[in-house]
Amino acid sequence: MAAEDVFTYALSSNQAWAGYKGHQNPDFFPKLALGQSPEILWIGCSDSRCPETTILGLQPGDVFVHRNVANVVSPTDINTSAVIEYSVVHLKVKHVVLCGHSSCGGAAAALSDVRVGGVLDTWLTPLKAVRNAHAEELAALGDKARGVRIAELNVEAGIQVLMANAVVQDAIAERGLQVHGVFFDIGTGRIRDMNLGTGKGGVKGAASANGDADVVRGKHAMLVFRNGSDGAAMQAR
Ligand SMILES: [Zn+2]
Repeated sequence: MAAEDVFTYALSSNQAWAGYKGHQNPDFFPKLALGQSPEILWIGCSDSRCPETTILGLQPGDVFVHRNVANVVSPTDINTSAVIEYSVVHLKVKHVVLCGHSSCGGAAAALSDVRVGGVLDTWLTPLKAVRNAHAEELAALGDKARGVRIAELNVEAGIQVLMANAVVQDAIAERGLQVHGVFFDIGTGRIRDMNLGTGKGGVKGAASANGDADVVRGKHAMLVFRNGSDGAAMQAR
């Protein structure tokens, strides 16, 4: 994108993408325009390296999304709460997925006592509380492992908030809503299930332990995951 401004490039890239998708499947956009019925609510970090639909190999219409700095789930945050309520009560998603990730700048900032400035220190307060609650464990780790661990502990804390959410609790009881905590390794592109929340399965879940294939049915394609000798394999149908 040498001489071109990145915004100009992005817009022309959109034109090319829309043309390609429409050519591939003329019904794709007209169908999308009729409405949405995603089965997954994804709560993740705003980090540019964690675009949920892309890393899940899914399509527009498949994932309802809330992302913020360091994927903090706070019970008093009306933004997060509105996204949860709309997707769980009205869209009736089947899975709520909270995703932390490696190399998270927000998590790293919470490990330090250096002020980031502005509203960011306030925003990261819950993460600092997590850090303080696990100070001993974190201190025993090397820098890289500590960065991963604080992000994992942040997911655990967020899952507790999700499981205490009344809307989520009702949907679990009434229709078996599943809540998952997962971790995205930016260095490998792989998501692993942390087996939190309502339990097992879920995104890694996608690949079940007994080697059977699980299927995630998207609106526009079907992804089949198989648990092979070197992990899950994905095939679009
Ligand atoms: Zn992050």
